[in-house]
Amino acid sequence: MRMWFRPAVPSSRAAGGGIARAAVVAPRRRAVRGRAAATMWAIILGAAIGASPAAAQEARTGAPLAGAPPVPQLRPAPSAGPRGISREEAARRAALGTVAGEVAPPVDPRLAKSRFAAVTGPTAAPARALGRYGLGCLAGAVELPAEGPNHSSMRLSRGRRWGHPVTLAFITDLAAAAAASGLNGILVGDMSQARGGPMLFGHSSHQVGLDVDIWFAPRPATVLTSEARETMPFQSVLNGDGSDVDPARFTPVVAALVRQAAADRRVARVFVHPHIKRAMCAMTWPDRSFLSRVRPWYGHDEHFHVRLACPADSPDCVPQAPPPPDDGCGDALAYWYTPAPYTPDPSAKPKPPLTVDRMPLVCRQLLAMPDRAEAYAVAPVPTGQETPVPPSPQ
Ligand SMILES: [Zn+2]
Repeated sequence: MRMWFRPAVPSSRAAGGGIARAAVVAPRRRAVRGRAAATMWAIILGAAIGASPAAAQEARTGAPLAGAPPVPQLRPAPSAGPRGISREEAARRAALGTVAGEVAPPVDPRLAKSRFAAVTGPTAAPARALGRYGLGCLAGAVELPAEGPNHSSMRLSRGRRWGHPVTLAFITDLAAAAAASGLNGILVGDMSQARGGPMLFGHSSHQVGLDVDIWFAPRPATVLTSEARETMPFQSVLNGDGSDVDPARFTPVVAALVRQAAADRRVARVFVHPHIKRAMCAMTWPDRSFLSRVRPWYGHDEHFHVRLACPADSPDCVPQAPPPPDDGCGDALAYWYTPAPYTPDPSAKPKPPLTVDRMPLVCRQLLAMPDRAEAYAVAPVPTGQETPVPPSPQ
């Protein structure tokens, strides 16, 4: 027996400190993964679509290895320096997947959400958030443990406990802060799928491994059973008629937890129900600057949604424009108390279903890659005179 590919990936449990480490070992991992992927890609392409002209052309335009089909073009992380990008660069990234000269692979008639929901394994490291929060995918995802010292994950059957390592680190830190503030940690709801992408139900974002829902409901003192994680009802923090927050549920400690999330430098936005934003605007805070990142949105009365900023290791992650710098307690909040947000636009055209071909090219490639387990599979080397040559280990 000989190992084709060394298992270079640490367990997801070690993800908390993975960012610096990933930057150090990324080139080697990329080479390993590239060969594994190239081999598997050949098998997948051959089996699934045959030698179509389109696939062949794409292989020519994107192939990193001579004679091999393409692997997702995960660009290396910048070695150092602040993240700022130019307007042109932002526009280029926005056009991800529509670069002239690239040929889309054959269109699969199934929807993108069906395809991404069906893939249960992540690709190998390094982790990269790819594309937009609402139209993207995630390479090298790591899985949040179902249970930690200060958190419990909910709805495990959905398979949405995957994220970029920075998301897991953030959750771990927020959970510890919750415990330090007197709460019994946090309940963690949906994150992303194993390769990100659109979901069958529930979210339009959460696609690049940087979004996480944190329940407002208190974490029970005893470890939840699997069944309880599936069936514990969502619990609103609004009052009975939905006219305001219920102060017995949206307590100052819970508000402080939302502040903790929004004040975290890794965080771009926190979405909450307008009544929650209004309640937080009315509170006295020593520093109100975090409030600019607390944004009112539909729903979000039984959880708050934390969106992390694009991490430095993911140059193809498309950032959102930063929120206005003011506290958002004026006109931006008042808008949510007008009919406008609740009145459908009669001129709005229904969106066509999101098919795989409308996903960024790198996400389409990611879908076809082997998962981490396959990439590191141990392959037998037959004995005898005609021993096949496996891909060179690197
Ligand atoms: Zn969410």
